[in-house]
Amino acid sequence: MAVIADVVIIGAGIVGLSIARELKKRHPLQKIVILEKESGLGKHASGRNSGVLHSGIYYPENSLKARVCAEGASAMAAYCVEEGLPIKRVGKVILPVREENTQLDLLFHRAKHNGARAEMIDAQQLKEIEPDAYSLTGKALYLPDSAVIDPVPILSRIADSLKKAGVAVCFDQKADVMDSKKGCLKTREGVISYGYLFNTAGLYADKIAKAFGVGQEYTILPFKGLYYRLKKSSGLQLNGHLYPVPDLRVPFLGVHFTKKVDGEVTVGPTALPAFGREHYQGLKGLNFFDTSSILFQIFQQYLANKQGFRELMHQEGTRFLKKYFTQAARQLIPKLRSEHLVRSQKVGIRAQLVHIKKKELVTDFLIQRGERSTHILNAISPAFTSAFSFSRFVLDNYYESGGLR
Ligand SMILES: Cc1cc2nc3c(=O)[nH]c(=O)nc-3n(C[C@H](O)[C@H](O)[C@H](O)COP(=O)(O)OP(=O)(O)OC[C@H]3O[C@@H](n4cnc5c(N)ncnc54)[C@H](O)[C@@H]3O)c2cc1C
Repeated sequence: MAVIADVVIIGAGIVGLSIARELKKRHPLQKIVILEKESGLGKHASGRNSGVLHSGIYYPENSLKARVCAEGASAMAAYCVEEGLPIKRVGKVILPVREENTQLDLLFHRAKHNGARAEMIDAQQLKEIEPDAYSLTGKALYLPDSAVIDPVPILSRIADSLKKAGVAVCFDQKADVMDSKKGCLKTREGVISYGYLFNTAGLYADKIAKAFGVGQEYTILPFKGLYYRLKKSSGLQLNGHLYPVPDLRVPFLGVHFTKKVDGEVTVGPTALPAFGREHYQGLKGLNFFDTSSILFQIFQQYLANKQGFRELMHQEGTRFLKKYFTQAARQLIPKLRSEHLVRSQKVGIRAQLVHIKKKELVTDFLIQRGERSTHILNAISPAFTSAFSFSRFVLDNYYESGGLR
């Protein structure tokens, strides 16, 4: 099979699908092909996340995340409503878990700047909103607009409407770059020539970028997120999401409670390096080359100890044990007991980018341009929330008219 496409997108996660959706709106006649190596949608981060539509409060004012998150959350919420997909606006409370509460004030300030509705509340108001929650300082931040969605039906609906609009969404088609200059790649079904390529390959985005000579200074360090479910018999009441004030040096939000669309409460995720890019469980997903390179990266990060990496490792390193995981969750709900939690099947892996020389985790989204191509190198949280506005940003600034280079 020799296919000629105007645009090829590698990866049918939320980012790849959203870019295709935006492209199709702008250029209805373009021939767009999406290549997905798995047999279905949502096998990686886009189908294995917490499903929270974030409000955009965590991110520094000049960051790309701050620019696209709040708008993306509104766009995604509107899409779910229009399409009749599950969404619940349950609200979110952020609780300080350390004595100093300047970070809570900082989040409040960022919320205002980034366009998110937020309210600083006292212990009495907290009791009314979340009776079982506890604030160490008596203060908490309340975000009434925070919503929860079910990610996989969203992916399916976008893919279905893309297919109807003539986009080829091809499964079991792992893309291998053949000639980045001529615009040529191969899959198990043959060769595809393209005019332009978007690399939205999640955990493999760095490898594909490197085949274009892009992003040589980066590598992906996968971070695993384990979840538990809160048993109904625990008797604990939760009306919305409960989050700790996170360590803002790193792009992880800490163990939190999420109220899902079906009313079930999940607790998690952890944030410990995985030993393989797809090392979800057992020995599956491990291979010698990747595992050695990941261990080397962890060692380098640990030695450099930027962004409090050692503290993160020590803290997260214990949380795969239920006792320590429960301890982390009890900071938010002290009445929680280990027997209230049961291990969830859901495990997610974050495609976290690391700057190799600086030995730092990249905290913002990162996009780079290559030969006839754009590479999405750090589509970490809240990339699900932001996907619609993020894809507009990518097309405006990297595809349509040159723009940022
Ligand atoms: C535990 C966890 C919790 C999270 N919670 C939230 C949250 O509450 N809210 C939020 O907004 N975000 C959250 N996120 C982040 C969000 O899920 C991700 O940012 C987002 O899903 C990234 O989407 P993506 O399309 O870039 O990647 P992916 O979903 O990983 O998609 C990439 C796709 O590319 C495919 N692929 C890779 N290589 C190839 C190849 N060579 N050829 C063809 N296909 C290829 C893969 O199979 C995959 O399907 C969370 C993430 C995790 C892991």
